[in-house]
Amino acid sequence: MGKKILSKVCKTIIISLFFISSVLIMSPLETREVFAMDNNIDKEYIEGFNGKSQEQMVSASVSKKVAFLTFDDGPSGNNTPKILNILKQNNIKATFFVIGKEAERNPQVLKELNNSGMCILPHTYCHDYKIIYSSVENYFKDLEKCKNVIRKITGKSPEFYTRLPGGSDNLVCKAENLRSIRNRLNAKGIDYVDWNVSSGDATGNSVPTSTIKSNIVSQVGNSKTAVVLMHDGYYKTTTVEALPETIKSLKSQGFTFKTFDDLTPGERTKMIKMGVINRR
Ligand SMILES: [Zn+2]
Repeated sequence: MGKKILSKVCKTIIISLFFISSVLIMSPLETREVFAMDNNIDKEYIEGFNGKSQEQMVSASVSKKVAFLTFDDGPSGNNTPKILNILKQNNIKATFFVIGKEAERNPQVLKELNNSGMCILPHTYCHDYKIIYSSVENYFKDLEKCKNVIRKITGKSPEFYTRLPGGSDNLVCKAENLRSIRNRLNAKGIDYVDWNVSSGDATGNSVPTSTIKSNIVSQVGNSKTAVVLMHDGYYKTTTVEALPETIKSLKSQGFTFKTFDDLTPGERTKMIKMGVINRR
């Protein structure tokens, strides 16, 4: 009887010692993992932690190859649904910087984009440089009108990102006005998004498919983050034709595809450094 009690006590002590030592041996990373399971901390944050500085953490979290395909100036009734099909076939998502006026013309297409989990962001309502860049006030009026159209059709409010027609360093808008627009966007908590890879499909209405693909592949080069500028307006049929091969090529290089809906803080920081977001 005494022996049995003694062996039970011994077992309890051994188990307790084993548990305590295993907790002590646990690395800070593992401790964070256990912690994170309870607290639902961003997995990329944990992976990047393990004794690294904050900067290393950020770069670790964005060391994967990620492509952000972006389509401007739609939605169009002909090309946007075709693009959506190609994206669906490839099981990837993309970002659409839409023109409010076009969304009003093709509300069903915008709904389809929204229902398919695509990221929809405002580009402006009319995209007419003479109107939107005539004054800072007119730009913001037009942007707000575009956001209202998106809200009305999708029920979602696109608050955090936009793309300036012609880019944030365009030569159409007076430099002083453009500076004020950029500053005011940031003051409102809105990031303006440019690109580091241009498909070149805006240089004409039927840029050859092979040119679009080779522009993208060559500019991607060795970058790990690619924000690709394309267009899904009515005349951009060769962009649609170039898309399957372009996606195939990016996939073969190890790229995964994301949108600005799921941009991580690390990716945003990297894009700011790259001058893709909030370029000065
Ligand atoms: Zn545009």
